[in-house]
Amino acid sequence: MKAITILGSTGSIGRNVLEVISQFPEKFKVVGLTSNRRVDILIEQIRKFKPQFVAIGERKEAEYLKKTFPSLKIEAGEEGIEKVAGQKADLVVVSIVGMAGLKPTLSAIRTGNDIALANKEILVAGGEVFMQEIKRAGIKLFPLDSEHCAIFQILERFSPKALKKVIITASGGPFYNLSREELATITSKDALKHPVWKMGRKITIDSATLMNKGFEVITAHWLFGIDWNRIEVVIHPEAIVHAMVEMIDGTSLAFISPPDMKLPIQFILTYPERVPSPCSLAISEFNKLSFFPPDEKKFPALRLSREAGEKGGTYPATLNASNEVAVEAFLEGKIGFHSIWEICDEVLSRHQPCLNPGWKEILSADSWAREVTRKIVENYAKVFSPT
Ligand code: MG
Repeated sequence: MKAITILGSTGSIGRNVLEVISQFPEKFKVVGLTSNRRVDILIEQIRKFKPQFVAIGERKEAEYLKKTFPSLKIEAGEEGIEKVAGQKADLVVVSIVGMAGLKPTLSAIRTGNDIALANKEILVAGGEVFMQEIKRAGIKLFPLDSEHCAIFQILERFSPKALKKVIITASGGPFYNLSREELATITSKDALKHPVWKMGRKITIDSATLMNKGFEVITAHWLFGIDWNRIEVVIHPEAIVHAMVEMIDGTSLAFISPPDMKLPIQFILTYPERVPSPCSLAISEFNKLSFFPPDEKKFPALRLSREAGEKGGTYPATLNASNEVAVEAFLEGKIGFHSIWEICDEVLSRHQPCLNPGWKEILSADSWAREVTRKIVENYAKVFSPT
């Protein structure tokens, strides 16, 4: 039996992971569960999966949990989540959103647990240092992102020397065909409806701005050690092809599957075994698959990410932090959709980078960027009127 801990078990990915686990009760046991604050869902999960270790971010919810489960040890706050992450497990799934996932993930890595990483912010902000941590700990890192899991499965079969380039597909999100003027009037309610994937709030907005795709370029660079100029993005609205890899001999491999996160989750959980799943793809239904280059003028987030990634140092951490704050402000109705990348661009242009950062410098760039972004958001909010 594989012992699994899920950090962020009440979010979209976490719940999908538990669904896959419940299909194979003979294969997995849940060691630890953590949630930031969704206590009701967490209670149901504890009843069903009987973890040994539980943590909840919000301290007052911890009191309620302790009363509900008097014999269970309940940890609270950030340190509590870190403690559960650091318990021995065969695999720790990291589905905490944003930089809040950093410390618990490091704690899991330093214990020697293998990691399934659904969080991309950590890898965007500190890719180089993060990969050094993985190497030092000698653990396995599985990318829990549909595109990267696809690339992982293709590259497993080939020598890195055979690789020419990788192509990451993007559905384009809900607004790809809108004009610049129409984009300006989008509200958070419009943006939370993704045409293909059902996901958490932050990643849904990141998909709509294409920042998510930009971040995936950065994470692909670090995960697979591929040069920036050998990573391409292509818009593919049907989201059936998740990634393609071109070999030096001119042959390309496309990774095709239904757009369902349970597939990459099952692949990683049962790795290296393959087991049956109810998912299946009727290829004949997809008589039209389209691919076209992204419009980086209309969606500059892609360009911003690539530039921040290539410049390196603390630039990606700055972009990531600024984006987290700007997306939150957009969700709160304080700024318009455009303003997300405009603000990020402004923060990046003010940044004094550290070129060879460790975690300390990355975290200090992160807090600097959050503070500056909040100030700029307040100025934007004064003149913003939602339409
Ligand atoms: Mg993805």
